[in-house]
Amino acid sequence: MIRIVRPRLPTELEASLLALTQEMAGTPVLERGDHTERMWKRPSVRRDVYAPAFKALEAMAAGEDCCMYCGNHLADTVDHFVPKSRCALRTFYWPNLLLACSTCNTRFKGNKHRSDGFVGSLLIDPTSEDPFEHLDLGLASGVYRAVEGSPKGKWTIEVCGLNDGKRPRVRARTWTNLADDMREWARSRAAGDLKNMNRKVYRMRNQPFADVCYAALRKAVSDEAPRIFADEEPDILELLRDEELRASFQV
Ligand SMILES: [Zn+2]
Repeated sequence: MIRIVRPRLPTELEASLLALTQEMAGTPVLERGDHTERMWKRPSVRRDVYAPAFKALEAMAAGEDCCMYCGNHLADTVDHFVPKSRCALRTFYWPNLLLACSTCNTRFKGNKHRSDGFVGSLLIDPTSEDPFEHLDLGLASGVYRAVEGSPKGKWTIEVCGLNDGKRPRVRARTWTNLADDMREWARSRAAGDLKNMNRKVYRMRNQPFADVCYAALRKAVSDEAPRIFADEEPDILELLRDEELRASFQV
């Protein structure tokens, strides 16, 4: 899971979302459940709100079609972070909309929602908080673990099925590919081949499970880096700490 910055929306879309929220607010509370489903499926909403919101989410995702929960490149739905069945008033609330794959949205997350006991959710919202504070990704294993003492980390791994099926194996492969790409990037730099350097950065940034890449970049500058990268070739840590490469990722 990658920290994502949520931009402001174009004024027209922002106004449309607000108008729909006001319409929902004017609906009697007991009727909101059915009404929200009808509104969400309304053809004009699909065309003028869903489609541009989907586009805005695609642009802010940390990779091409990357699911904001699991990081695969199969994101094809607009997800409501707080399910619309739980809070109809957040159906058209921009900060509540995320880009997700069907597996995370429907199969795993569905209507599951749990409060953190205060005012927030136990599920990590990568657009409003830093997942790195709750989740620790093993680079070689591709397995997520909750940071010690983080119920949010534990709940997010469970609800989004972050370690389910092939996901860890694909992340482990991504880590191997990343090492190869960084070395290729360094060779291209030595040869003055700017075009290939850019190509490699594009590939690293946009590959599925780019969370591996971002986790490696974060871990490389942590106090624990010597221990974490002890089993890797020494050039890997050097490359992850390379200022020019890091600047390409805006980290
Ligand atoms: Zn997903």
